[in-house]
Amino acid sequence: MPELPEVETVRRTLNTLIPGKKIDRVTVKLPRILQKPDDPGLFTARLEGRTFQSVERRGKFLRMVLDGLVLVSHLRMEGRYGVYSEDEPVEPHTHVIFHFTDGTELRYKDVRQFGTMHLFLPGEEFQAPPLNKLGLEPLDEGFTLDAFKKAIGKRTTKIKPLLLNQEVIVGLGNIYVDEALHTAGIHPERAADELKPKEIDRLYHAILDTLSAAVEAGGSSIKSYVNGQGEMGLFQHRLRAYGRTGEPCEICGSLIEKSVVGGRGTHICPSCQKGPKRTANSQTIIKPRTHAVKRRLDGGTR
Ligand SMILES: [Zn+2]
Repeated sequence: MPELPEVETVRRTLNTLIPGKKIDRVTVKLPRILQKPDDPGLFTARLEGRTFQSVERRGKFLRMVLDGLVLVSHLRMEGRYGVYSEDEPVEPHTHVIFHFTDGTELRYKDVRQFGTMHLFLPGEEFQAPPLNKLGLEPLDEGFTLDAFKKAIGKRTTKIKPLLLNQEVIVGLGNIYVDEALHTAGIHPERAADELKPKEIDRLYHAILDTLSAAVEAGGSSIKSYVNGQGEMGLFQHRLRAYGRTGEPCEICGSLIEKSVVGGRGTHICPSCQKGPKRTANSQTIIKPRTHAVKRRLDGGTR
């Protein structure tokens, strides 16, 4: 699933491609993508004749601003946008096509069909679902250490599920939460209200650094993410914890372990991220075999 850096990369790319383009007509091949209005006839009628002005982002939602209208779009698992000439063959799984007056097209392709589109009058998009309950925006100026402390400091929840909660902080998914917690040296099952001030400080900067580095690298391409111009992101090569089960931690050399926290696959360094005592919700499902071997060599009790 694309996370904030991927969506930000798509946003930046689209923002260089579609502002100034005027919609001649819209083709909807899969009405289920449309949430508001959900009627394809109404949806297309409202968009025709409008011109894209800019592409913004709120959390993992693209906010595509037109004259007098805002299109809020979520890519979910595998949604992709691309700008094509109208002569180019339409690929399978292309569900919505915005035909521009200049002979180009913005095409929305989505193999899994989970993506969504909502139309709002400008400003109304923040008052209604899906944007109205979103939490702190980590790449905005408003994301200060104080604001972060207020958002998480008194919560008794485990820190990982808390960071995944979009009503607390937006745009962090499984990959970047694991990365940020590893960078900050915090175990994902620590309770948020038990973190020391210096740990919250480290976590705050780890979130900023992790997301900024990923945005600079063009997002991660763990699954099938491609930005608005069909370029794969590069950040996957720089992940330090996520997906590196059994590989050495870059900081201390211990082997990265995988467990399940709050129902999500979770990657930690057992040395850098000291945990609370094991809780009922957590179990280690994959332990690198080399650990057992090492213990036997060291201990020699069997
Ligand atoms: Zn380590």
